[in-house]
Amino acid sequence: MRLPWQILSLHSAPVRWASSVPAGVVSFVPVCSSTDPQSRELLQDFVSRSTRLLVITGAGLSTESGIPDYRSEGVGLYARTDRRPMQHVEFLRSAKSRQRYWARNFVGWPQFSSHQPNSAHRVLQRWEERGKVHWLVTQNVDALHSKAGQKKLTELHGCAHRVMCLGCGGITAREELQKRFIALNPDWSVQAGGVAPDGDVFLEDEQVLHFRVPSCEECGGILKPEVTFFGDTVNKATVQFVHDRLAESDAVLVVGSSLQVYSGYRFLLAANDRKMPVAILNIGSTRADHLAQLKVSGRCGEVLSDIQPL
Ligand SMILES: [Zn+2]
Repeated sequence: MRLPWQILSLHSAPVRWASSVPAGVVSFVPVCSSTDPQSRELLQDFVSRSTRLLVITGAGLSTESGIPDYRSEGVGLYARTDRRPMQHVEFLRSAKSRQRYWARNFVGWPQFSSHQPNSAHRVLQRWEERGKVHWLVTQNVDALHSKAGQKKLTELHGCAHRVMCLGCGGITAREELQKRFIALNPDWSVQAGGVAPDGDVFLEDEQVLHFRVPSCEECGGILKPEVTFFGDTVNKATVQFVHDRLAESDAVLVVGSSLQVYSGYRFLLAANDRKMPVAILNIGSTRADHLAQLKVSGRCGEVLSDIQPL
């Protein structure tokens, strides 16, 4: 049954953020209009009406923790560099590509793994504790939801903090692999040139030539981050699991995602088929705007902190 959510398009005057975000963090958050009181009120109403909320989050949530996203205008990785993320097929077929990938990932790891949840992650964790959030699905691989203590969580694209063996399927901690990298490459050091959303950094070919990549300790197989690379598909069982949680929910809230990737977008199509109310909180337009009853433009942490899970 479709609930009587208001259908509104909201506008407000564009202003730059004069915020309390620490220096060096705000640079990855796109410029955004301030969120007007009316949209906050409508979002509060949306959250209040739901008793089993399915939340879908994306890179826009983590920019406030200092992790750049791929697509944001001006500040996303695509806008700032000509680098593109690792393609699944390239990783599988080229030992040289894997060497380059892991060398960059090795250099970026200390910084990438040290990022901390921001106020948006903490708010969503509190909503779970209060019974407001039925399930949370994230497209992020940065582990910030689990660091914030989120339990009812599906990491749709995996997690960069885990490593998978392509031979035996064994899962190990990325932190352990870092120790093996250090042991295998005692004299190898480079200057990192910026961290990408998946923990990648930029190195010249010359620099990676002598980087040694370990294989699985159990079977000697190829090690890969337990992350869905571009060109790969999300595990069918995981997709079905999320569809099942969606079916148990009464509303969908998207936070910090443009939903450009189909793996997340499909759940908005499913919500639409089920005539479930949908609200989107994101800076800039999304692929699912036409499916949403409420669209709020604003920084996730700031807007969510004002919403009470009543
Ligand atoms: Zn193995």
